[in-house]
Order: sequence, then C-alpha cells, then structure tokens
Amino acid sequence: MNKDIATPGRTREILEKYGFSFKKSLGQNFLIDTNILRKIVDFAELSDETGAIEIGPGIGALTEQLARRAKKVVAFEIDQRLLPILEDTLSPYGNIRIIHQDVLKADIHRVISEEFTGMTDIMVVANLPYYVTTPIIMKLLTDRLPIRGMVVMLQKEVADRLAAKPGTKDYGSLSIAVQYYTEAETVMTVPRTVFIPQPNVDSAVIRLIKRKQPPVKVEDEAFFFQVVRASFAQRRKTILNNLVNNLPNGKAMKEQIERVLTETDIDPRRRGETLTMEEFAALSNALRHVL
Ligand code: SAM
Repeated sequence: MNKDIATPGRTREILEKYGFSFKKSLGQNFLIDTNILRKIVDFAELSDETGAIEIGPGIGALTEQLARRAKKVVAFEIDQRLLPILEDTLSPYGNIRIIHQDVLKADIHRVISEEFTGMTDIMVVANLPYYVTTPIIMKLLTDRLPIRGMVVMLQKEVADRLAAKPGTKDYGSLSIAVQYYTEAETVMTVPRTVFIPQPNVDSAVIRLIKRKQPPVKVEDEAFFFQVVRASFAQRRKTILNNLVNNLPNGKAMKEQIERVLTETDIDPRRRGETLTMEEFAALSNALRHVL
C-alpha cells in the first residue's frame, strides 16, 4: 500500500516541496491524522460499488482513503494551486477525478450522471471548508441529489445546531431544515490538534442520512420553511410576536394567527425553540389557509 498522505511528516514534506502557503479565506486546515480519516470513511459505510463525492480535497489526505474503499471519487477543489499537488500525491490511484470548481457553483446532478454512470450508491464525504459549511450542506440537500447521505467534518458548534432537538439552545431553523431532509447524528468530536494549521474551533463529524420521505406531512414546503424562519427570527420573543412581525402581512392578521395557534394547540406565548417539527407542520398547514 502507498504511504499515507495524512501524517505530519509526509504532509510537511509535500507542502515544502511545492512551497504551499495556506489561505485562511478558503478554510484550509488539513488533516494529519490517518486514524481519524479512516474513522470518517468507516462512518460513511462505503463499498466497492460506491461513488464518493468529496468537497475540498486539499492535498488529498481524505481523497486517498476514499479511493481505497470506493469505486470512484470525484472531488471539487476551488484552489488552483492544489491541482498539480493533487496530481502528484494521488498519482497511484486510477479512480479519482478532481474538478477545479467552487462546489457552490457546480451542477452536481450533471456531475453525478456523467461520472457515476450505473452507480446507485453515492455518498458525500468531506472535511468541509468552515467558512461555507452551512451553504454547502443546504445546497447538497435542497438540490435533491440522488445521494444516500453525507459524512462531513465541520465546526462542532454547527454540528450541534444541525442535530439539535427541540427545547435546547442549539435548536433553530437550521436544525429543522436539516432534519426535515435527513436523519442527523454527530458521530465523533475531533480536537483541533489534528489539523495544520490548527483551527481556532473544535470540530465534529456529522452523519446525515437522507430520509426516503419527510418525517412530517407538509402541504407547502416553501411556506413551512418561511413559518419556521419567522418563528426563530428573534429567539426571545413569543411565537405569536415572531409570526406577526416576520410573516408577510402578519401585522394585519394578528387575530387570525392567534386563533390558528390556539386551534393547533400551541400556546401563543411559547417560544419557537420549544416547537417540534410536527407542531411546525400542523401550524404551517393551518396558517396557509388563512394568510
Ligand atoms: N480534505 C482536506 C483535508 O481533510 O486535509 C482539506 C480540507 S480543508 C478544511 C477545505 C478544502 O476546501 C481546502 O482544500 C479548500 O481549498 C477547499 N475549498 C474551499 N472552498 C471551496 C469551495 N467553495 N469549493 C470547493 N473547494 C473549496
């Protein structure tokens, strides 16, 4: 087997060979711990039939671990300076395709149909650039890609929000959006010491497995998410005040909103963070008939 990229010594050797300097603005913190990388790949449960999508391969530390277990790996890298390095470090593997592109601008549907023809199991596995974690996850979910799910490393604080349950301080519109599409579970926390350079936050690995169907019945998804966002607009305010102040036309409809809350068994004095996804679904299904 080839020597692992993700050791402190090999990583430094590669960085020195190419005179590579990290760009903080691109969230460049490279992993130098092979055990952690192997665990990340274990959590993704890949087989030799799986197509793996990686975002931000860096110098290829995770990419090579994926290439050893998946059928094929497609990785999006925004930083052109990394392309010759990846060509060198990943040269022993014949099943990797690097795409030089900002993943937020990529047509991932097209990439999947072109690169993973005939493959039915597709997983996203990545150590995400922390400055764009949430937009990347939301794009992957709302694009409704034919993927099984994702196993991604991100800031622990964001992982806590994605997997949060009602009634906790981390629970918010992001928790609901992610848990509407997936079953979310934090599977590992990771200390900052296993990266170079060390980030100034702790990290966690979250596993998001796409649901076959949403867990609640929602009549109008766009309106459901609008109600959820409005309910959390000011966390200290009651659900009634938030809906009145933040739904279009809310102020003129205060009485109707209050009546719908009571009819759906939600005390108007509660705060958004105490409502379950079922309650938000019932509320938005009822509200859309009166607003
Ligand atoms: N996978 C490597 C590892 O674990 O060592 C590097 C991870 S590093 C946290 C994030 C990587 O994402 C960097 O290589 C960075 O250049 C790349 N990146 C940042 N923004 C990106 C974007 N919008 N699209 C694609 N890649 C991006």
